[in-house]
Amino acid sequence: MEPYDYDLLIIGSGPGGQSAALKAAALGKRVGLIERKPYLGGVSLQTGTIPSKALREAAYLASRFAGRGMREAVQARGQVPRDFLSEAVACEKRVIESQESLLLSQLMAAGVTLLPGDAAFYDPCTLTLRRPDGDEIRLRAGIIILATGSRPRRPADVPFDRERVLDSTGILKLQHLPEQLLVVGGGVIACEFATLFAPLGVQVQLVDAHEHVLAYLDSDIQHDLEEQLLDMGIQLYMQTRVERIQREGERVLTSLDNSETLETDILLYALGREPNYASLNLDAAGLTADDHGWVRINENFQTAQRHIYIIGDLAGRPSLASTAMEQGRVAVNHAFAHENAHPAGQLPMAIYTIPELSYVGETERELQERGAAYVVGRARFSETARGQIIGAERGFMKLLVERGSHTILGVHIIGESASELIHVGQMAMNCHATVDVLANSVFNYPTLAQCYKSAAMDCLRQL
Ligand SMILES: Cc1cc2nc3c(=O)[nH]c(=O)nc-3n(C[C@H](O)[C@H](O)[C@H](O)COP(=O)(O)OP(=O)(O)OC[C@H]3O[C@@H](n4cnc5c(N)ncnc54)[C@H](O)[C@@H]3O)c2cc1C
Repeated sequence: MEPYDYDLLIIGSGPGGQSAALKAAALGKRVGLIERKPYLGGVSLQTGTIPSKALREAAYLASRFAGRGMREAVQARGQVPRDFLSEAVACEKRVIESQESLLLSQLMAAGVTLLPGDAAFYDPCTLTLRRPDGDEIRLRAGIIILATGSRPRRPADVPFDRERVLDSTGILKLQHLPEQLLVVGGGVIACEFATLFAPLGVQVQLVDAHEHVLAYLDSDIQHDLEEQLLDMGIQLYMQTRVERIQREGERVLTSLDNSETLETDILLYALGREPNYASLNLDAAGLTADDHGWVRINENFQTAQRHIYIIGDLAGRPSLASTAMEQGRVAVNHAFAHENAHPAGQLPMAIYTIPELSYVGETERELQERGAAYVVGRARFSETARGQIIGAERGFMKLLVERGSHTILGVHIIGESASELIHVGQMAMNCHATVDVLANSVFNYPTLAQCYKSAAMDCLRQL
């Protein structure tokens, strides 16, 4: 048997692949990181998370500038310049370049070998790497991590054209604000884009087959978000299916199953993503995908071939950059028999709609389903001095706490900085702190974090 070229070969330089590479290099392993694109960072850095968040920030600031609150912002239509998008894209490019160069220097400093090209299995321990110049080489490794991510689902009957019928990658390349946007889908990406464009004065319509958008959220947060979507002027067509999408000149016509036809400038199709397995030649590795297109893995992200791991979007939900990074760490720790292989406690979730929302732990629905005895503590941002100063009238926080033990079971936040605020609750939960700890803590004044204290006191009053 030929010796291994690397201890670890990773396919894909997104957040999953990066974190696995850095972790394994820190353990002193010989690591090769393969990437087919001429740039590093995957969907997260190049075409998804960072571009959409950079654009969201620009939209959010523009909406704040136009007036306090969404309604005023929407009424301020016309104040947002049409070339707003090209300016925002220029800013986004600067962020991407700077993040990519930081990533490159981290990988170099760690001694990770970058291997440009397209990889596929030759046999279970060998990859064929087709380099950008067309040459093919074979590389062997003791451990292989697949982190090839996912791509937007593009059904054959949707006439994607990179101009007016777009997926989540295409919409980030728009240079001018459209007059109207139809979003198909009611999930995270759909809602994030809907609330990004609406404050900029774009007339947004959203069509989804479900009764509510993001129905898995805690119901109070979900209702408030839906109310804010409506307040922003977003037209929701819930429990409605798209039957046909067609281009007619510069317009997109979308026929719905309620016999209506919607006419818009741009359509964003944001209904699901698909794993990037196709080019990997899984058969040669002795792996097969199930009927839904996924390869089975265990809690350590290990496949039936014990030396092959699958992480990130390729491993399925929750399909986040943050979890992909954690999965990279867990897989490497497991593969090289290092301690602490299992995920570090509660994973926070953030959805960067405007307003943003974030949560950790269980929802009220989940607690009721398992018959838990709990109380709900609430605090409104508007009750804090900071909330009043920044005009965060609608934000709020909910703590779910177990009767008897006072254990924190869930934290749910909607409003300004929710994605940052959640980490206080996450840390409290990871340390198994009771709600008393939050009630007895001193928070900076004035801050939105003081909501933790108010919500905790609210819990204690009921306990
Ligand atoms: C619009 C949008 C917004 C998002 N916002 C957020 C957010 O706010 N927060 C968050 O946590 N997550 C967000 N996500 C999700 C996040 O981007 C993904 O979960 C994350 O990028 C997955 O990381 P990954 O490492 O699995 O793969 P990816 O980032 O998809 O990277 C995979 C890499 O593998 C490479 N590759 C594929 N096949 C091969 C091959 N055969 N050979 C060589 N290289 C190959 C690809 O070129 C790519 O660079 C968002 C996604 C989208 C689309």
